[in-house]
Amino acid sequence: MKNRLLIYNTLTRCKELFEPLNAPHVGMYVCGPTVYGDAHLGHARPAITFDLVFRYLTHLDYKVRYVRNITDVGHLEHDADEGEDKIAKKARLEQLEPMEVVQHYTLRYHKAMEALNVLPPSIEPHASGHIIEQIRLVEEILKNGYAYESCGSVYFDVSKYNKVYHYGKLSGRNLDDVLNTTRELDGQGEKRNPADFALWKCAQPEHIMRWPSPWSDGFPGWHCECTAMGRKYLGAQFDIHGGGMDLIFPHHECEIAQATASQGSDMVRYWMHNNMITINGTKMGKSLGNFITLDEFFSGSHHLLTQAYAPMTIRFFILQAHYRSTIDFSNDALQAADKGLQRLQEAVKGMERIKPATGTTGVDGIQELRQKCYDALNDDFNSPIVIAHLFDASRIINTVLDGKATLSAADLDELKQVFRLFMCDILGLQLQTGNNQQREKVFGKVVDMLLEQRREAKANKDWATSDKIRNELTSLGFEIKDTKDGFSWNLNL
Ligand code: ZN
Repeated sequence: MKNRLLIYNTLTRCKELFEPLNAPHVGMYVCGPTVYGDAHLGHARPAITFDLVFRYLTHLDYKVRYVRNITDVGHLEHDADEGEDKIAKKARLEQLEPMEVVQHYTLRYHKAMEALNVLPPSIEPHASGHIIEQIRLVEEILKNGYAYESCGSVYFDVSKYNKVYHYGKLSGRNLDDVLNTTRELDGQGEKRNPADFALWKCAQPEHIMRWPSPWSDGFPGWHCECTAMGRKYLGAQFDIHGGGMDLIFPHHECEIAQATASQGSDMVRYWMHNNMITINGTKMGKSLGNFITLDEFFSGSHHLLTQAYAPMTIRFFILQAHYRSTIDFSNDALQAADKGLQRLQEAVKGMERIKPATGTTGVDGIQELRQKCYDALNDDFNSPIVIAHLFDASRIINTVLDGKATLSAADLDELKQVFRLFMCDILGLQLQTGNNQQREKVFGKVVDMLLEQRREAKANKDWATSDKIRNELTSLGFEIKDTKDGFSWNLNL
C-alpha cells in the first residue's frame, strides 16, 4: 500500500491518517515570505518541507492546489500589532515605493527557490491584492460579535471568543498564559484586553500603505490575509495548512480564531509545522550577526562560511533531518552533507556503468527498497529514512562496481527507478555534476582573492588599484560590501 499516509497534526498532537475532504483534490495553504529582504535559511526550510509534501501528494495522484502567499502589507515590526510596517520601513529607508520593494524581493525569492529546486505553488496571492476579501472577513467577525471597533481600528475580542470556543488550542496556551506574556505597548489603550489582536488598523498620517474601509483609511491586521485568501482559493474547509513553528503563535492561533468567529468552524483539517534552524547552536537574527542569506550560502561570501555551498547541498541538508526536528547549521555539518550528497550522485552515475549479469540471482533487499521508501514517506514524510535507504542502495552499487557482487537486469532496473523516483522526483535532489560544484567553489575563491588584494591595496593607500578592482567587479554584477571583518559579496546576474 503506497498511500496510507500518516500526517502529524499539530492541533491534535498525533499522527492521523490523511483523508482529504474531496479526494483526489487536496487543498494546501502555506504561509509565504514577508518580502522586505533577501531570502535566508529560515525561508528555505518551510519552502523545502512543503515542496516535499507537494511533490509526494502529487506523486500519490492527488490533484493538489498549493497556495503560498506573499505578505506585502500589514506585517508590523512587532508581531503584537505595533511598530512600522516592515515593507513600508524598507521603502522609506531606500526611498522607494513600497511596491518596488515587494517586486524586487519577490523576484529574488523566486530565484532562490528555483535554485533550491522548489516547485512554484499553484497560486501565489499577494495580501495587498485581497484587501476587499479581508474587509469582508472583518465585517463577518464584527457581525457575529467577536470584534469591536476602537478609534477607527477593529480588534478581535479574544476573551469573548474564548467563552464559546477555545483560544489557544493550537499552541496549547490558555488565555492567562497569553495575558502574562503580552507586552504592554503603545496603542494598547485602544484594546479592551491586551490579548486582543488587530483585524484592521487605522493608519497614522505618515503611513503610506492604506486603503479605505468602513472604519478608517488603514490596513488589515497581519493574520487576516491567510484566512481570507485560504478561504477564497481553497474553500471554507481545506486539507492542509502549513508554516514554520514560529507561526503557531500568534499567527495560526489567530487564524483559527478568525475562521471560527466568522464561519463557526476552523477551515483547516491538518495543521503542519516545520521546526526551526539554528546556526552554530544559536537562533538566527539580524542583530546576532549570524543572519546568512541563501545567496551568501551559494557564493560562500558570508564571514561565517568557510566555503560556498551549492543549493542542492542546502536542500539535502534540510531533508536529512525530519521536518519536525531542529537543524543546526555549521560548516562541518554542511560539508558532511555535501559529501553525502556526492556519494548518492556518484552511485547514480555508477549505475550507468554496471552491466547486468545473466543468470545472477537477485541481491537481497533490492526489491523491497521501493516499499521501504514509501513506508518512510507515509510515516509523516520521513525524508531522513528515505535517504538512509538510498545510502544502503548506494553501498550495494559500490560493491558491484568493485567487482565483489553482480546484479540481475531486474535488480539494476529497479535500483535505477528507485533513485529516479525518490531522489530526483520526490526529494527533488537534482543530479549536479561534481565538476559544477567544484567549479563554483574555485570561482568563489578567486573572487575572495581579488577582494583580498583590494583590501591590501586599501591598507597601502593604493586607491587606484583598490578602486579598479571594485569598479571592475561591480561592472560584472558583483555587489561588494565592506564589513567589520573584511568584506562580503554577492553576484546579481
Ligand atoms: Zn499566514
